[in-house]
Amino acid sequence: MSVDERKLDGNAIGGLLREIFTMEMTAAETTCAGCGAINALGRVDVYMDAPGAVVRCPSCESVLMRIVHGRGRYWVDLTGTRCLEFAES
Ligand SMILES: [Zn+2]
Repeated sequence: MSVDERKLDGNAIGGLLREIFTMEMTAAETTCAGCGAINALGRVDVYMDAPGAVVRCPSCESVLMRIVHGRGRYWVDLTGTRCLEFAES
């Protein structure tokens, strides 16, 4: 499969984020550490690469976050996200 065929939007990780943050996160906004673009999580580019998900900025394609879930644990790498903003539930 080509890269474009594997590309999904942020809704692909809505359930995964819900497990971690215990609230609806697809409306949360990320600020890209690379280019400063602000995007709703529902609109970012998502690649479901085993064993985890890679979230990329739709503006500059930098990695915003990596989420791996396995062996009873989660690993969340937010190095590429300068800020994650979401409403209280
Ligand atoms: Zn960016």
